[in-house]
Amino acid sequence: MIQSESMKITQNAIEVVSFDVEGTLVTTDFSYAIWFEMIPQRYAERWDLSFEEATRKIKWEYDSLGDQQIDWYDVQYWFTRFDLGKADIAMEGLQPRVKYYPETKSVLKKLDGVCKLSVASGSPRPFLKHLLRDTAHHFSSIFSSTSDFQQVKTTEFYKNMCRQLLVEPEQVVHVGDHLQFDCLEPASIGIRAYYLDREGKSGDPAAVRDLAQFAKIINGL
Ligand SMILES: [Mg+2]
Repeated sequence: MIQSESMKITQNAIEVVSFDVEGTLVTTDFSYAIWFEMIPQRYAERWDLSFEEATRKIKWEYDSLGDQQIDWYDVQYWFTRFDLGKADIAMEGLQPRVKYYPETKSVLKKLDGVCKLSVASGSPRPFLKHLLRDTAHHFSSIFSSTSDFQQVKTTEFYKNMCRQLLVEPEQVVHVGDHLQFDCLEPASIGIRAYYLDREGKSGDPAAVRDLAQFAKIINGL
């Protein structure tokens, strides 16, 4: 009895703390600059249009493909489609637009070593390369659902992630700012998922307001 109880505790101990990236560790500034500044600007130059005309056209193109299609997430796909050249060189120029939330780096530093830190993001790897440039050293694993599994963050994605991390879902805590992709999907397989609602708009009493509050919960587990 005692043995089985202690086994249960060991089995449910937190092994991995998993983070979403955009809206959680970093703001969406970098992505916005790519989709709504750089691409329309280059499109305007390439096709001799005003910035406004180019913006209208590319928004129409984004919407007509839709975010359920995996190509939609692929910057090079759009660069090729619009004949704009190499996306990676252009993205490098936007590195200064990557912006961390004020508490992110100190929280990562604090939790690093306490448990294994991991990333579960829907952003493609070419984005993560920039978004995590200053913090990648804290993470033992980085998963991109779109690049690694060609899907958004579904339960299947989280199952695969746990399999690769060699842990049970109950040994993982995840935090992110998307109710479906960061809470409902992971929670449905037993991951302890925390909804990050920075603006407090959801009214959800279980939501955390920033990563410092999340870290306090982790330390108390
Ligand atoms: Mg997010």
